[in-house]
Amino acid sequence: MRLDHQRHHSEDEVVDVVVVGTGAGGAPLLASLARRGLSVVALEAGPNTEPDDHTPDEVEAPGDINWMDERISGGSAPTAFGPNNSGTGVGGSTLHWGAFTPRPNAHDIRLRTDSGQGEDWPIDHAELTGWIEQVEHDVGVAGPAHYPWDPARRYRMGPPARNASSDMMIRGAAAVGITATDAPVGLTTEDRHQEHHGLRQACVACGSCHQGCRNGAKVSTDTTYLPAAVAFGAEIRAEAFVHGIELDARGEVEAVVYRQDGRDHRQRCRALVLAAGGIETPRLLLHTGLANSSGQVGRNFTAHGATQVWATFDESMRSYRGYPSSIITEDFVRPADADFAGGYLIQSLGVQPLTLATSLVRGGGLRGAELVRALQDYPRMAGVGINAECLPYDDNRLVLADELDENGVPKARVTFSPGSNEEAITKHAVRTMTAIVEAAGGKDVRVLDRTAHTVGTARMGTDAGNSVVDDAGRSWDVPNMWIVDNSVFPSSLIANPALTIMALSLRTADRLLRAGR
Ligand SMILES: Cc1cc2nc3c(=O)[nH]c(=O)nc-3n(C[C@H](O)[C@H](O)[C@H](O)COP(=O)(O)OP(=O)(O)OC[C@H]3O[C@@H](n4cnc5c(N)ncnc54)[C@H](O)[C@@H]3O)c2cc1C
Ligand code: SF4
Repeated sequence: MRLDHQRHHSEDEVVDVVVVGTGAGGAPLLASLARRGLSVVALEAGPNTEPDDHTPDEVEAPGDINWMDERISGGSAPTAFGPNNSGTGVGGSTLHWGAFTPRPNAHDIRLRTDSGQGEDWPIDHAELTGWIEQVEHDVGVAGPAHYPWDPARRYRMGPPARNASSDMMIRGAAAVGITATDAPVGLTTEDRHQEHHGLRQACVACGSCHQGCRNGAKVSTDTTYLPAAVAFGAEIRAEAFVHGIELDARGEVEAVVYRQDGRDHRQRCRALVLAAGGIETPRLLLHTGLANSSGQVGRNFTAHGATQVWATFDESMRSYRGYPSSIITEDFVRPADADFAGGYLIQSLGVQPLTLATSLVRGGGLRGAELVRALQDYPRMAGVGINAECLPYDDNRLVLADELDENGVPKARVTFSPGSNEEAITKHAVRTMTAIVEAAGGKDVRVLDRTAHTVGTARMGTDAGNSVVDDAGRSWDVPNMWIVDNSVFPSSLIANPALTIMALSLRTADRLLRAGR
């Protein structure tokens, strides 16, 4: 995005707020605060790009927009990082996300009330929905004219064109009595003038969303909230990696230390907002030893169940074509026959060849000739996948490793093993997904185990003893520090996270402004 005309602040100036990270969490808040006249500086570890810089080549794209620094992963289902799980750059993970934007429903944020397990969110569902509607208005979300699970809901734009996987899911779901419809998606299906950015062209169904959208159709913060933030006076410093936080004698943040151009800089500030994502925020907090009187920083790491079921069809599917995930069913948010807490969403899938190959290896255990044989079916394969609830467990957590990164900061070590609840959900979901693809005419069904997203490592709550931030996102320990990213979710939700992160970001901006700091 254009940064050449932005306002500059000197490092000696005490700016109102420093924001670390410019993705789904950082950007909406940055725009809100700048709009209200606060002096704000965003520090972003990744580079600044223009939509034209993105390449649809899935081999080359990750180097530009994914967080490729090593993270150490363990447990019985080690989380896959790199392109699978977190982005970098001005725009954060919204540069490469899939833009599937279901809203959390009322059950989703009341897991403990529903099931006696996990946590409830300390936020009223109607209030959260209000912030979500604001995000949908700000960035442009497309969806069906009638949403079966929430008939009062309206989307301003019609859904994108369906690809072959989508037609397959609609056909298969109908045959087995499951309601499925066009999904809410964060992209424009009409040319849209985005204030402070310019033209975002209607989606051309190129299928390269995970490599970065070249024409601005997909919602990413570098074409939506960040240009607005800069227009209102925010400064964004790219390739600025934060590794230190300094407190004054009262225990409040007075400066942030970051590495840029090979040397350390120090930016003074009145308040700090962390939006570095579900891995880097807890890593920074553990490294600096801050905001952890509860001992909860790095704990409650959850990763959504994201198992996929693929099948081979007689006809050509060419699943690299079209917007990838355009169909949804919410019939399994709380299945009537569930022997587990929570539930899952199902979406149709489109996938580039290398991504499918990686999943066949990692999630399907295929190697050698068997893998090659499976890939020969690629043009005729189509599939569906889930986003499923994940409970927190004591052993699933992020800690600092002994190894250091190039900046001298300990690497993150993340341990993840699904528990019996996650296994029960996956079993139920595989049954459902297999029924859908087989009813649509699919053969040679393949189940690929996956998890996705990094959630819950600095959770929000009402008790300072077992949460890191309060219900506004404010640290219990450091009064002028706030967190607005994936890490604050009290439970994983079954709705994919980014829309909710953006909504929480607007909400925390509102609370921060009201608090006067
Ligand atoms: C392949 C893929 C597809 C996805 N598809 C969807 C989808 O369809 N729907 C959905 O809802 N979600 C999706 N997600 C998840 C979604 O993108 C993330 O949950 C969301 O963007 C996370 O927002 P965040 O603000 O927590 O972090 P991010 O958006 O990742 O932003 C964090 C930013 O902080 C920067 N940063 C980190 N550490 C530092 C530091 N020390 N100093 C300075 N800067 C730092 C990073 O470079 C990054 O830019 C997808 C994720 C992946 C990987
Ligand atoms: S499919 Fe649409 S939203 Fe995705 S990258 Fe192509 S134009 Fe952008």
